[in-house]
Amino acid sequence: MKKDIIDELLVISGKGGTGKTSVTASFAVLAGKAVLADCDVDAADLHLLLSPDIRERHPFFSGREAIIRQQDCTGCNVCMDVCRFDAVREFEGKYRIDPVGCEGCGVCVRFCPVKAIDFPERLCGEWMLSDTRCGPMVHAQLGVAAENSGKLVSTVREQALEVAVEKEIPLIISDGPPGIGCPVIASLSGVSLALVVTEPTVSGLHDLQRVLALARHFSVPAAVCVNKWDINPEQTERIESAARSAGAEIAGRIRYDRSVTQAQLQQKAAVEFESAVADDIRKVWEQTLSML
Ligand code: SF4
Ligand code: SF4
Repeated sequence: MKKDIIDELLVISGKGGTGKTSVTASFAVLAGKAVLADCDVDAADLHLLLSPDIRERHPFFSGREAIIRQQDCTGCNVCMDVCRFDAVREFEGKYRIDPVGCEGCGVCVRFCPVKAIDFPERLCGEWMLSDTRCGPMVHAQLGVAAENSGKLVSTVREQALEVAVEKEIPLIISDGPPGIGCPVIASLSGVSLALVVTEPTVSGLHDLQRVLALARHFSVPAAVCVNKWDINPEQTERIESAARSAGAEIAGRIRYDRSVTQAQLQQKAAVEFESAVADDIRKVWEQTLSML
């Protein structure tokens, strides 16, 4: 299967906690067969609802880190003098580099007079390929204090596309990161459609406008779905009106329903239980599919 006939649907939100992952998991169930990508690598939780069976684990390297070989270090202090990030520590004449503070600039490596500093690639996490009841899933875990989640998101997307080509699955459903930072940009560029899940609050409207502006900037078609719309119908109207003004389509509304939480507690998607909210999500899914 050629890459250009594979659709990529990204589910995002202006901030965390809007029900984005719950919607993504339900879409995965409704799709029947899709490649799933958890691009929320800083706080991955799609796996909690889809219980993946991990088939492959791959290390994720990004940048480099300086490591002093103690046996070769003469204690000259040059590395401490040249490090602009205060990452070099000295204790009782022994020099070492704080891996969290090291920015991987390589200056100390260059200036160490006896070349006692190694500069390997930095292990920042891992990405995994798993099987789920809804299809293959690519997900990732960023290491503690590791940065560059944007690059890890790109890795997850590339691998999801590889899997879709290999298994001839024409749809990728991605759970995107919240906010509008670097990981969101890495998730958004080039997708077929971004579905923004928002809540009917003042901050929800503000966050939505920021994320829609981002989608416009990257020329990505956007649709909006208001989750828990019945908590504030007037604000829902305002949000939908603002979404239309920003050029986005309306994918539908999902009511507030405690059965969503009950489904989560049982590690299920909301649509795996018969309920009114499951019907809402089905309608949003059908509307979203029609936009792809
Ligand atoms: S510059 Fe090299 S030799 Fe000097 S303290 Fe640092 S690691 Fe040791
Ligand atoms: S690589 Fe750069 S940031 Fe890291 S310890 Fe050396 S000089 Fe400091």
